[in-house]
Amino acid sequence: MFDKVLIANRGEIALRIQRACKELGIATVAVHSTADADAMHVRLADESVCIGPPSAAESYLNIPRLLAACEITGADAVHPGYGFLSENARFAEILEEHQITFIGPTSEHIRIMGDKIEAKETAKRLGIPVVPGSDGAVNTEAEAMKVAKSMGFPVLIKASAGGGGRGMKVAHTAADLGLALSTARAEAKAAFGNDAVYVEKYLGKPRHIEVQVFGDGQGNAIHLGERDCSLQRRHQKVLEEAPSPALNAAARAKIGETVADAMRKLKYRGAGTVEFLYEDGEFYFIEMNTRLQVEHPVTEAITGIDLVLEQIRVASGAKLSLTQQDVTFSGHAIECRINAENPRTFRPSPGQITYWHPPGGLGVRVDSGVYQGYRIPPYYDSLIGKLIVHGKTRNECLMRLKRALSEFVIDGIETTIPLFNDLIQQPDIANGMYDIHWLEKYLAQTP
Ligand code: ADP
Repeated sequence: MFDKVLIANRGEIALRIQRACKELGIATVAVHSTADADAMHVRLADESVCIGPPSAAESYLNIPRLLAACEITGADAVHPGYGFLSENARFAEILEEHQITFIGPTSEHIRIMGDKIEAKETAKRLGIPVVPGSDGAVNTEAEAMKVAKSMGFPVLIKASAGGGGRGMKVAHTAADLGLALSTARAEAKAAFGNDAVYVEKYLGKPRHIEVQVFGDGQGNAIHLGERDCSLQRRHQKVLEEAPSPALNAAARAKIGETVADAMRKLKYRGAGTVEFLYEDGEFYFIEMNTRLQVEHPVTEAITGIDLVLEQIRVASGAKLSLTQQDVTFSGHAIECRINAENPRTFRPSPGQITYWHPPGGLGVRVDSGVYQGYRIPPYYDSLIGKLIVHGKTRNECLMRLKRALSEFVIDGIETTIPLFNDLIQQPDIANGMYDIHWLEKYLAQTP
């Protein structure tokens, strides 16, 4: 097992990783920018290193400075969390070259899944169903038109290097295709330095259902069920739940086994998420994330498995501590992403938290890196906490969520809590009847 883990992240996820390290008896190193000198992840770590000025490029994304922090502190492993360098194959490779373990998959697997065209081809080869679309990249409008006409409009132009919903454009008719293609390409070039795009059938009313997988790199792999992340705004998740209200046990076992089997063939190591769109009873692969997800606690709530602890164990060379038969699902869990944003315009609301009172009680978990008096810096994403509730049934879970939200007090800044208070009053949410477009329609109708 590792002696000392450096956590190359900030905020709630840095704390989450520290907790797992502490339970394993591993010393922790926090890194931080000058803007985060008084952050909770710095206060609670055994050691901390300031790695640069506020801009992420000069701190949390700066590989030479992170390497130096490892060398100064003698850390023998790095946990990247999510975002920042978590899906940077070069970072994983450089660490390994320096005999520091990257707590995650191999750099080769990160690279394959980071390129959506290659990821889709790999998924298909491994027996995972994919969204119909072009065979790899499209280079000209004529090529895109041919694919689009063969499937029928609408189609989606997607960037191979895409992420965070960027580089994605819908063409509703043939007349839209040229513009969709050129804007997706330009956006991808600007955001990712790679303008390769492909064409995919645009699904009209799918749900976003993702399967949590775990492998040990030695050919063993299991699935931990699914999460339904259909409640989205601008392709960004807002609320997640498990199990999905749209699946029954047989459908869950079937897609779970398909994915676990693919991960066995791939000899995948660590935690991963295989994302699907689900429409009319069919699953369509869209991408794989080769890291821990923001929404991992809903899976922890219904399985009782500590995903970060298992990531660390497997990275140290251990075999998976569980078989598929050991995984049992219990009850229902929902996560709300609490952002420091206006709940209607979603404009970021950084500033000082003058009062902070998180909810508690049975089945309530709050993962957050903030505290009363903390000043949220304007440089990073606006997630300030996650509220995760668990209940024996979906109904109990919803009642508990309503209760927990009513206890939550955050003063001094605006947060998305009022949005969640509204959402849980909606019959469609109570009934689990929502697709990936539901939230945007709701926001447009209720100004
Ligand atoms: P990113 O990596 O940018 O998040 P994804 O491929 O994961 O991109 O897609 C993000 C979201 O975009 C999905 O959850 C879904 O809401 C929407 N989306 C992606 N592909 C399609 C598609 N073929 N049809 C309809 N919606 C899609």
